[in-house]
Amino acid sequence: MKTFCGRANPTTGAMEWLEEDENYDYHQEIARSRYADMLHDKDRNTKYYQGIRAAVNRVKERGEKAIVLDIGTGTGLLSMMAASAGADFCYAVEVFKPMANAAVKIVEKNGFRDKIKVINKHSTEVTVGPDGDMQCRANILVTELFDTELIGEGALPTYEHAHKYLVQEGCEAVPHRATVYIQLVESKRMWSWNKLLPVHVEAEDGEKIIVSPSEMENCPGVPSVCDIQLNQMPSNDFTILSDVVTMFSVDFSKPVRSASTYYRVQLEPVKSGKAQIILSWWDIDMDPSGKINCTMAPYWVKSTSAFQWRDHWMQCVYFLPNEEPVLQGETVYLTACRDEYSVWYKLQKARGPEENKADVCVESPVCRCQAHLLWNRPRFGALNDQNRTSQYIKSLMKVLKTDSVCLCISDGSLLPVLAHYLGAKQTVYYFLPPPPQFFKANHLDDKIKIIEARPELLTTSHLEDKKISVLVGEPFFTTSLLPWHNLYFWYARTAVTSHLTNNVTILPQSASLHMMIVEFQDLWRIRSPCGTCEGFDVQTMDDMIKNSLNFRESREAEPHPLWEYPCKSLSDPQEVLTFDFRKTVPQHGLGTEGSVNLLRKGKSHGAVLWMEYHLAADISVSTGLMQISNEKGNCEWNPHCKQAVYFFSSVIESEILSDPPSAVSYAINFDTKTGEIAMDFKL
Ligand code: SAH
Repeated sequence: MKTFCGRANPTTGAMEWLEEDENYDYHQEIARSRYADMLHDKDRNTKYYQGIRAAVNRVKERGEKAIVLDIGTGTGLLSMMAASAGADFCYAVEVFKPMANAAVKIVEKNGFRDKIKVINKHSTEVTVGPDGDMQCRANILVTELFDTELIGEGALPTYEHAHKYLVQEGCEAVPHRATVYIQLVESKRMWSWNKLLPVHVEAEDGEKIIVSPSEMENCPGVPSVCDIQLNQMPSNDFTILSDVVTMFSVDFSKPVRSASTYYRVQLEPVKSGKAQIILSWWDIDMDPSGKINCTMAPYWVKSTSAFQWRDHWMQCVYFLPNEEPVLQGETVYLTACRDEYSVWYKLQKARGPEENKADVCVESPVCRCQAHLLWNRPRFGALNDQNRTSQYIKSLMKVLKTDSVCLCISDGSLLPVLAHYLGAKQTVYYFLPPPPQFFKANHLDDKIKIIEARPELLTTSHLEDKKISVLVGEPFFTTSLLPWHNLYFWYARTAVTSHLTNNVTILPQSASLHMMIVEFQDLWRIRSPCGTCEGFDVQTMDDMIKNSLNFRESREAEPHPLWEYPCKSLSDPQEVLTFDFRKTVPQHGLGTEGSVNLLRKGKSHGAVLWMEYHLAADISVSTGLMQISNEKGNCEWNPHCKQAVYFFSSVIESEILSDPPSAVSYAINFDTKTGEIAMDFKL
């Protein structure tokens, strides 16, 4: 069956009705899922297995039958561990139908058909009794329902319900307990993901500073967790202000309460500084003794021998509502508030009347200044990147004249403000501007005109009958997922052509798509088959993922912020396509074929693709590769952008360099009608 879905095309901007196969969403879900990453997580798997064995043994030693409830069974892995450990029966509950089907197949293939019953339901729908899904309540509760924030996937309400209705009192739980840890830090880098720092502009008539309005300074931001691979954050990018402190823990073997609550700890800063950020992670103890521990602690906290790379659990960055100076040794109080699904923090200097419960539980953060809705965290990072800004300033200085009529096409951009300070004294137009308070705080209300229409609907009256002499863009659009989606700038430029002067300057004048073959240190795991996991055959899952990746016969590139995922280049970076913004979008497609030589030995996991924008003569900005930092080929990526990763369906390994070198051939085609880029690689 086919269904029609309406959407604005991210590249062309056109409203389109796609005839979408009803299976498309489900294939996307499987293809982009974290199941493979979990199955590759050896540390997690072995510890679950140990914990499950220990729990089954404890129950057996009491002379009871071991009846297991596995909530969120996925592939059935944890139930198969329990059955192998001697459990008498397992109820394996899975809400996602394709996974429940896969679990049935995997359980059967591994010979556990009469020990494991797969129930395709949400756990809160499961019934107990002679005619129910479960014959009786379980005495072992096994789950893996955690996300990076621990509770974001609904673990608390699921446990609360399970203790009330599905398991016996005094049941064993694997994991037995989870503990959340925090550390207070100062970090200009991370703080710049949440606040607009002053932007310095060297103009001809002196230095100008773009400031952020007080509404923005005092805004608590958005509630969504910022989860990152903290192990990729160099230690000189933050200053530790406190020891690692236990914030709260949850005992899963006892009834769990999911209702909103708070936890409070006393901190004594180990250093004076600006309290800005709470870094947080958790660990789980698989058994009551705490001897089987699986931790997400970052590199400076745990020994390297405990290191396991994983992407399904990372670390959290929480932004305090305001930065607060703290002194070494001076006591401060940190409160973690949580609801059923999320956590947020607040820091206070004095106890005072705050002891009063009602005052403590502040509301979950909501953006009041609008800026956090327009600018996400990487976008804040880019706007605060003074090096990046200076490239745009230099380019604008080259092209602007005092009589320039300047139009900016980019979302939430500061370019019109820069253009105003740098000479376009008369008129600078905007489509999707920063919030109004921003202009007020910078005394620009009457200097910059805002057009509330899409470029396609621009009229001469919007422009007060003027023609545009300078058209600028970063380009950046909030709808862009893949790097080339920002080519929307080209389509918008084409749409406004009749409003441009004959000798209009377009900045950037052109863009190019670049490509490089890489070997990932770890990211390859998320798309690589597992075969067997802890001795269980999970190939059914591999086949399912493969099938979904190749759905519609073509693999697609996927966005990843590569600063978090180390890789080394195996080929030189190659420019594969160019887009000339001085001309309109052509009717015909743009295509290229070629090959790149593999210059270093290693495993070719895939190709990385990114865009570079040529702002003006000799000035370019890269949204991808910044540099190859050493002879080993380690890459440095733009920290504010996601790059496109195209995983090869099979990996080639070049152990030795052949002569002539092995090569990867490619065909890359940009369809100007659909805005899509199709690619194919042959190894
Ligand atoms: N247990 C597997 C998979 C864990 S992923 C393993 O450890 O490898 C978590 C799974 O739980 C997902 O497949 C999700 O669909 C499912 N899930 C989450 N909450 C659930 C609930 N309350 N009831 C049933 N399934 C749930």
